[in-house]
Amino acid sequence: MSEKIQSLRGMPDILPLDAPVWQYLERTAAAVLSSYGYAYLGTPLLESTALFTRSIGAATDIIEKEMYTFADRNNESVSLRPEGTASVVRAMLQHGLLQTPGQKVWYQGPMFRYEKPQRGRSRQFHQIGAEVFGLAGPDIDAELLAMSARLWEVLGISGNLRLEINSLGSATERQRYRQHLHDWLALHKAELDDDSLRRLETNPMRILDSKNPDMQALIGAAPKLFDHLGDTSREHFDQLMAILDCMNISWQHNHRLVRGLDYYTHTVFEWVTDDLGAQGTVCAGGRYDGLVELHGGAAIPGIGFAMGQERLVALLQQLPQDFARQPDVYLIIADQSLQQQAIVLAEQLRDQLPELRLLTNMGGGSMRAQFKRADRSKAQIALVLGADEWATDQITVKWLRNQQDQVAVSLQELGKWLQQNLNS
Ligand code: ATP
Ligand code: MG
Repeated sequence: MSEKIQSLRGMPDILPLDAPVWQYLERTAAAVLSSYGYAYLGTPLLESTALFTRSIGAATDIIEKEMYTFADRNNESVSLRPEGTASVVRAMLQHGLLQTPGQKVWYQGPMFRYEKPQRGRSRQFHQIGAEVFGLAGPDIDAELLAMSARLWEVLGISGNLRLEINSLGSATERQRYRQHLHDWLALHKAELDDDSLRRLETNPMRILDSKNPDMQALIGAAPKLFDHLGDTSREHFDQLMAILDCMNISWQHNHRLVRGLDYYTHTVFEWVTDDLGAQGTVCAGGRYDGLVELHGGAAIPGIGFAMGQERLVALLQQLPQDFARQPDVYLIIADQSLQQQAIVLAEQLRDQLPELRLLTNMGGGSMRAQFKRADRSKAQIALVLGADEWATDQITVKWLRNQQDQVAVSLQELGKWLQQNLNS
């Protein structure tokens, strides 16, 4: 026998048992996004490597070490997308969709990063993201956050999440602070760990993001970006906070929040939970006012977020709720000569009741075996089609989950009967 091939490390399957919660998350998110006027945009999983290197920033984790990059058969450098925003910007520009301000789009699908697989971190993972173009905020910043807050509310996980927020200021302010931070950290070189020493020259702001406990005192004492913002940036931040307060959305100012990607400006935020261990950020985003220009477009501002579906699914799985939709009906064929009639009957029921979840027994089997399958299927009722029933145009209905008596229902009335008696 040949060896069984396994999936790649960090690239999990989504198994049927987990599928209902994934689908619940996706349809709930799609409904909320659509209610705020976001349109779906699908982009390919594979893009030119240059698309990502240009926008994400050379000294970021993604570009330094996480991208799946390879030469295709034509020797072009291509990469599996590590995130969605770059592709969305490319697509909006490529199809001339940025002419009118206020374009809102969302996307969903797998992303790829070569990371060390662990709880809450895989190499193929999934994001649902939203992006808005042509609006400089802070009104749209506030609406975007309200939309995410509403999604948590609808999903029933708002009690598990808190909003952390910061401002990175304009590109110029950020650049100036970066230099200032660099000079300050250079004076404390002896206290930096290896990772931070490496980042000191390439991306000193990422040092603030370090999870190393030994670094926390130093990071706490480091100069704060927020103290280096000009009036306009501060006003943007203050106005956003004021709108959030009006909507009763609580927030925490996290001065260390710098985000891993280079393209952010002004508002940055993360929704964080304490219920998932170390990987607690379930949604992250911010404003990227220079990104469209960086991709060869006009100076069009943008803002967006991406949520990690695996982490949201993990939160949803902690709820007592059962997301699976069980079948309503299991059709038992007591007499195998009626197989054909049974299949036809099942199709007629589906015509009448498009919502009906119906399993027809396949592959024969004794009554005992079929009832066992019916029971295992978790259907509410079994329909038994036998020779006697067929001869009198009837079917026997047996309740599988309670003690109600079995009844005979005429085949003509069956659709109506099911509609009235099934609790869905
Ligand atoms: P981290 O600091 O955890 O590496 P990040 O800044 O790289 O996060 P983003 O690029 O902002 O993450 O991605 C947005 C969200 O996507 C994250 O908050 C998380 O929920 C999810 N995510 C990112 N990388 C992974 C991964 N490797 N596995 C599972 N989910 C992920
Ligand atoms: Mg990361």
